[in-house]
Amino acid sequence: MSALTRTWLLLALAPVALTAERFESGEPVMGTVARITLYASSAGEARAGFAAAFDRIRALDAELSDYRPDSELMRLCRRAGEAVKVSDDLFRVLQDAQRVARDTNGAFDVTLGPLVRLWRRTRLKGRLPAPAEIARARGLCGYRRMTLDGRRRTVRLESKGMLLDLGGIAKGYAAAEALGVLHARGLGRALVAIGGDLALGDAPPEKPGWRVEIEHLGKVMELANVCVSTSGDAVQFVEIGGVRYSHILDPRTGVGVRNQKAVTVIAPEGAIADALATAISVAGEGLVDRYAGARVAR
Ligand code: AMP
Ligand code: MG
Repeated sequence: MSALTRTWLLLALAPVALTAERFESGEPVMGTVARITLYASSAGEARAGFAAAFDRIRALDAELSDYRPDSELMRLCRRAGEAVKVSDDLFRVLQDAQRVARDTNGAFDVTLGPLVRLWRRTRLKGRLPAPAEIARARGLCGYRRMTLDGRRRTVRLESKGMLLDLGGIAKGYAAAEALGVLHARGLGRALVAIGGDLALGDAPPEKPGWRVEIEHLGKVMELANVCVSTSGDAVQFVEIGGVRYSHILDPRTGVGVRNQKAVTVIAPEGAIADALATAISVAGEGLVDRYAGARVAR
């Protein structure tokens, strides 16, 4: 058979080989629900893909969660003062977090754990914390007090009582990682959504992209091979004395951002999209221009 005939044969067979069905699955994880949509040629292939992708998300939750005392993150927090060797995942997330922290002069800061915990209690009680409580928590925060060593892959927290919180960045990272797992299995036409953080792979068959509804803009966008993160959803806020405070903290005041607007960021990397969407509420939209390929959805 000549090379040309072979090519024609392949092309003739292609539509059959490419016939793909749409499959969907969801699982509660990371304090929200992870949903995956993918195109596969059989239910078995889809099932194996879902299992591998959800395994990856669960493994990341076990590393990055601040709710689980046994997570790698919380073990790191208990070893303040030491240079602790950490996993690739944790190191990469912390590296991205520190980049956004530097670019926002600490408006985005994953060392705000003590303030976030205080704010969580505030949201439950519906009463603002006393200034002394805020001052005490703030004394244990500050991204400059966390040192990363890229060569040794170690992280050092300066003082006891420091607490990391990756709530503003980990879901975007996990969504992109799960998509990578699917891609490696030949299931690149997939979408992973963890709460408001989406990682989109190749477009569905014969479509220009995935239809992403951006509620606060009243708009549907068709996108592929990009990550989309939305912050400031209507559910996550508390109202005290007629003022609406966000679950995103302004480190300057130690309390939630007031009257936060929803924002959606589109970026090539999941962790960056997630962190920027959170950071914009405190630092403004101009920030996004510093990140290649990132933009605010309008
Ligand atoms: P997101 O929903 O991605 O905007 O993330 C919000 C979460 O990020 C909060 O629930 C906190 O866990 C954490 N967070 C709050 N304020 C900040 C901040 N200024 N910088 C970094 N993380 C924050
Ligand atoms: Mg975020």
